[in-house]
Amino acid sequence: MKDFFVTRERTATFAPTPGVGRLRPGARTKASGLYLAGAWTATGWPATMESAVRSGVGAADAVLGALGRPRPRHLFEFEEAA
Ligand SMILES: Cc1cc2nc3c(=O)[nH]c(=O)nc-3n(C[C@H](O)[C@H](O)[C@H](O)COP(=O)(O)OP(=O)(O)OC[C@H]3O[C@@H](n4cnc5c(N)ncnc54)[C@H](O)[C@@H]3O)c2cc1C
Repeated sequence: MKDFFVTRERTATFAPTPGVGRLRPGARTKASGLYLAGAWTATGWPATMESAVRSGVGAADAVLGALGRPRPRHLFEFEEAA
């Protein structure tokens, strides 16, 4: 006899609502030397692991740009909120 069960992780699913993109900040902030990374930032993707990776790359890119350091070839097109 085969057995199985189904689990549901309610916190794993996101529920974006219209206009929520405006609330998501980009990597750059008004505070000198402070950059944001996280799945919840303005990556153009829902708050998933893909978004977390993109946000990290975006934040690193912003830091390197501010330091005038060579920036690695972009892996992604950045989609920051205006
Ligand atoms: C149950 C569950 C299942 C999921 N399944 C999927 C999936 O199948 N696919 C998918 O794409 N996404 C999934 N997600 C979403 C995905 O895991 C998140 O979007 C992603 O991990 C967020 O990455 P992050 O780096 O922004 O934040 P996190 O991964 O949350 O990392 C933030 C880190 O900061 C640390 N931290 C917090 N406060 C402080 C502090 N004051 N000082 C120091 N450290 C601090 C935390 O401990 C944590 O390690 C799931 C999420 C949950 C909860």
